[in-house]
Amino acid sequence: MVVTRFAPSPTGYLHIGGLRTSLYSYLWARKNNGIFRLRIEDTDLERNSQEALNAIIEAFNWVGLSYDGEVEYQSKRTEIYKEYINKLLESGNAYKCYMSREELDALRAKQEAAKQTPRYDETWRPEDGKVLPPIPEGVEPVIRIKAPKTGEIRFTDGVKGEMKFDASFVDDFVIARSNGMPTYNFVVTIDDMLMEMTDIIRGDDHLSNTPKQIVIYNALGVKHPNFYHVPMINNPEGKKLSKRDGAMDVMDYKRLGYLPEALLNFLVRLGWSNKDQEIFSMQEMLELFDPKNINKSASAYNTEKLLWLNSEYIKSVSNERLIEELKFFDLDLSNYSKKDDILNLSKQRANTLIELKKSILDIKNEPKEYEEAGVKKFIKEDTQEVLNAYIELLENNKDKFSSVSELENITKPFIESKGLKFPQIFQPIRLSLTGTTQAPSVYDILFVLGFDEVKKRILKALE
Ligand code: GLU
Repeated sequence: MVVTRFAPSPTGYLHIGGLRTSLYSYLWARKNNGIFRLRIEDTDLERNSQEALNAIIEAFNWVGLSYDGEVEYQSKRTEIYKEYINKLLESGNAYKCYMSREELDALRAKQEAAKQTPRYDETWRPEDGKVLPPIPEGVEPVIRIKAPKTGEIRFTDGVKGEMKFDASFVDDFVIARSNGMPTYNFVVTIDDMLMEMTDIIRGDDHLSNTPKQIVIYNALGVKHPNFYHVPMINNPEGKKLSKRDGAMDVMDYKRLGYLPEALLNFLVRLGWSNKDQEIFSMQEMLELFDPKNINKSASAYNTEKLLWLNSEYIKSVSNERLIEELKFFDLDLSNYSKKDDILNLSKQRANTLIELKKSILDIKNEPKEYEEAGVKKFIKEDTQEVLNAYIELLENNKDKFSSVSELENITKPFIESKGLKFPQIFQPIRLSLTGTTQAPSVYDILFVLGFDEVKKRILKALE
C-alpha cells in the first residue's frame, strides 16, 4: 500500500512549488490505489494563521486534488508527541539537557569565533561511566536526541540517488523545548511514522532535514519511508523563482483566467517528463507518473508554455464547463441563445478565460464606439452603398445563416461582382458589428449574430 501526504505549514498561501509536490504525492498514491493525506503542520503558533490555512484548502479544492480521511492538525497532537518523547527518554535515545539559553549562546559565540560550525557540546549527553553535572535549580530542561557520533547516515533518495551524510552532520539536536513543545523535525517524523507514510515526496529544500529525521526513525527502531527530494522550480534565467516570475498564490492563477487542468498539466511537466509528451489528462498522469522519473535538475518556469497549455484546455473542455468558469469573471452566458456558437468561435483564440470573456463580449455586445483609426482608414464615400447592398444580399439569403461556409459562398461572388477588394467590405462590417477591426473572421461573426442582429448593427453604424 502506498501512502503519501502533503504537509503544508499554514504560514502563507499555497504556492506552485507546494502544489507541484502535492500533485506528485497525489498521483503516486492514486496510481497505486493508495492513500493521500493532508496534514497541516501548524506547530509554529506565531507564524500560523487561519487565513493561510483556509487559502491552502481553497486552492486544493480549486485544483480538485482530493485527500483521504480527515485533515490532521499537528497542533492537536501534542500529547501524542509527548508520549514518544518519553519513550525515547526511557529507552536512553534521548536525554534532558539543562544548559541555559545564556550558556548555549556563549558556546555558539565561542564556536563561531573559532570558525567552527555551531554544535551542541554534549555536556549533558549521558555515556557509560560519565558523571553528569549537578542539575541546576530553576532550569527547565530541553530534550535532546542522542545522535550517533560515528559512521554515516545513508539513504537512497528516489530522485537524487545514494545520499551519504557524515554522522557529524547531525548533532544532539533538540526534540522538545523547555516548555515541553516538540520541535519540527520530531513531529514530522512521528506523524510520518504513525500515519504509515511509505513515500515522502517534497522539495529538496528539505533535504538537510532528512538525516535528522532518519536519526529519529533509528532511535525509535522503525524503518524510514522512501524519500524523493524534488529539485526547485527556477525562473527562466535559472535563478530562484520570484513572485514576478510566477511564484504566486495558486489562487492567483484562477484570478488570471487559468483552468486548473492547465495548471496541473504545467506543473506535472515542470520536473517530470514522459518522452516529449506535453499534454496529459489526469487519467494519463495517473497512468504514467512515476517519481523515479522526476528530473534530477531544477526546472525552469515558462509562462508561454502555461499560456499555451491553457489555450489548449480552453479549446478542449466542454462549453458547459466554460460557461461555469466564466461566471467567476461575471459573465453568465447560461441564458444566451447563441452561447455555443459564440463559445465555439471565441475559444479558438483565447489563452485565458479573461481573453475568452473579452472576445465573447466584443461580439455579443453591440459596439458603443467605433475604433477611430479603423474608421479613418476604411470608411470611404462608397461604404454606405456597399453595406446597404450587402444587407440586401443577406436579407435575400437568410437561410444561408445556417453555416459559415454558406455565408462565405454568397459573399465571395458578391464582392467580385461589385469589383471590391476584401478589406473594403470586411473592415467596415467588422467595425459596424464589433467596433474594432481586430475581431475574428467576418463570416464567423455573421454566423454567431444571425441576420437580424447583423442588420440592426450595420444600420446603426451607418446612422
Ligand atoms: N511543512 C513543510 C513545509 O511546508 C513540509 C514538510 C515535509 O514535507 O516534510 O515546507
